[in-house]
Amino acid sequence: MEPEIKTEDDMHVDASEFQPVEESLSAMQLEQPQGTGLDERDMPVHELMGVFYQRIFPYKTYYHWLNYDTVPTKSFTNREFSFNLPNDVYVRYQSFNSHEELKAELLKELPSKIDIGAVYTIKPKEKKTTRPGAFVPVEKELVFDIDMTDYDEIRKCCSGGNVCIKCWQFMTVAIKILDRALRDDFGFKYLLWVYSGRRGVHCWICDERARKLSNEARSAIIAYLSVIKGGAQQAKKVFLPKALHPSLQRSADILRSYFPQIVLKDQDLLNDDEGWKKILQCIPDEETRKTLSDAWNADPSRTSTDKWTDLVSELDSAIGTLKKNPKRADALKNVELEIMFQYTYPRLDENVSTHINHLLKRRVCVPIDPEKCENFDPHEVPTVADLLCELNKYSGNVPVKEEGERKLHDYEKTSLKPYIKYFENFVQGIFREVRNKKRAASINDMEF
Ligand SMILES: [Zn+2]
Repeated sequence: MEPEIKTEDDMHVDASEFQPVEESLSAMQLEQPQGTGLDERDMPVHELMGVFYQRIFPYKTYYHWLNYDTVPTKSFTNREFSFNLPNDVYVRYQSFNSHEELKAELLKELPSKIDIGAVYTIKPKEKKTTRPGAFVPVEKELVFDIDMTDYDEIRKCCSGGNVCIKCWQFMTVAIKILDRALRDDFGFKYLLWVYSGRRGVHCWICDERARKLSNEARSAIIAYLSVIKGGAQQAKKVFLPKALHPSLQRSADILRSYFPQIVLKDQDLLNDDEGWKKILQCIPDEETRKTLSDAWNADPSRTSTDKWTDLVSELDSAIGTLKKNPKRADALKNVELEIMFQYTYPRLDENVSTHINHLLKRRVCVPIDPEKCENFDPHEVPTVADLLCELNKYSGNVPVKEEGERKLHDYEKTSLKPYIKYFENFVQGIFREVRNKKRAASINDMEF
């Protein structure tokens, strides 16, 4: 019998499949309270989440993403979800057969936080009834986490969980560098950058090859990408090889374009002696350190940019005068760049469990386009309460619908629209590749 060749159309998933489900509201119907002076921000958290899970959460897109195929797969059904429930209850090993099941559960439990875990050999909800050893993780996206709290020693504007547009630039440069490295050095294509809703970004690497990596391979990738080493006690944390390999060279080019603005202007890190002492500790030559320190103490009002110029020219002249001592000269050759790396290169961790939404008083998790991440401002990302305000404002201002006009999805009435569109496009990209692979496989089958 002739093998059946599926055409693109057979496997095509209708674009409307990607639209979030929208259903009529029941008890959760949001009415602007009349004359009470209350608004969405005063609603109890569980009610806010109820409306969010009922009207806005893009179930189908999440389902398509985590399923990685046009037909249902274990990638979704055997995937672990974990929920934070009220009263600090954390529930692991939840799993669902469909996006409808996921929706029903979210509406029932109203978790304040959802974590996406690994795909297991067996459905996580059946874990208890399987024999020990049969339940093992088989795959998981490679996920990186960049957390602003790891930048506290190099930012002056904020600390801890706080983020402003100045220190957010560290995230911008981290995305630029890692996105290029993951694509150019590892050949990964499906990188989903996500604002975590509070103080950092996650990168989900969704390529099949990445999902199937062993733990050792994951650690090796992290090690390859880690340039900053050592804890708070270690003053100099970057030691570059004498000749930069192409990946470091490319990162250096990106850093050079961000360092003057972020470190010298926005953070103004050479402004006071506390800041410049730290930077001077990165220079492994006492004479150079002393010359600069004396000059800046004599005229501390010079700007950070001026002081940086002093530092670079002092390094140059030290290298020149150390010609007879090539070892000491060599030690100084990369120092300018090493300081730039130490103050702008991404500080990253592999994240084992990664939340997709943490709704309690936070902003919503949204994707970030790495090509446009310099325009991303975390303060423009809505909170759940903002979204409900927007929905209410919209419904109080509905234009008369023309005949044949498509009914808008609720998310399209909110500022979440561009983010969900971006997410849908990302998932469509994965699906295009799945379809192409299937087509190639069926043509291959036919040749035998
Ligand atoms: Zn800040």
